[in-house]
Amino acid sequence: MAQDDNKLKKYKSKRDFQSTPEPQGGRKKDKNKPIFVIQKHDATALHYDFRLENQGVLLSWAVPKGLPEDTSEKHLAIRTEDHPIDYAKFEGVIPEGNYGAGTVEIIDSGTFTNLKDKPLEKNLEDGELLFQLHGHKYKSVYALIRFKNTQKRSKQEEWLFIKTKIDPEA
Ligand code: MN
Repeated sequence: MAQDDNKLKKYKSKRDFQSTPEPQGGRKKDKNKPIFVIQKHDATALHYDFRLENQGVLLSWAVPKGLPEDTSEKHLAIRTEDHPIDYAKFEGVIPEGNYGAGTVEIIDSGTFTNLKDKPLEKNLEDGELLFQLHGHKYKSVYALIRFKNTQKRSKQEEWLFIKTKIDPEA
């Protein structure tokens, strides 16, 4: 799909696929439920990559401290380039000399439910996401709130990752 190619331009421009085992693309088999993944990435600085499926790619944030375990915490999440769907299954070592060199380990994965009454794409534009994770470990309702939007593509978008008090059973 041309749209995916365009969305993955930045991802592909940062990587040499002769040299890194990371996936170049991919298609989803089960189209019913959107997926999420949390990957521990032991790169120059240890961080956790949080990814949500949207329109054929994985929206991505680098979260230095990982997901908040408590509703009183707000964790910084820096938006990074969209990743291919197949990245949700990626674990391994990105060799030295490559972008993001280091070890990638899946911490949790599963599906998620968008709890806003608008599509995820619109919430992304608005800078406010609300979703429930259906992982093995993570099952709570989280919010991602953009607090710095520079509008310039070259500058980082900073978001806050919040564990809400919303009861997932309700
Ligand atoms: Mn990373």
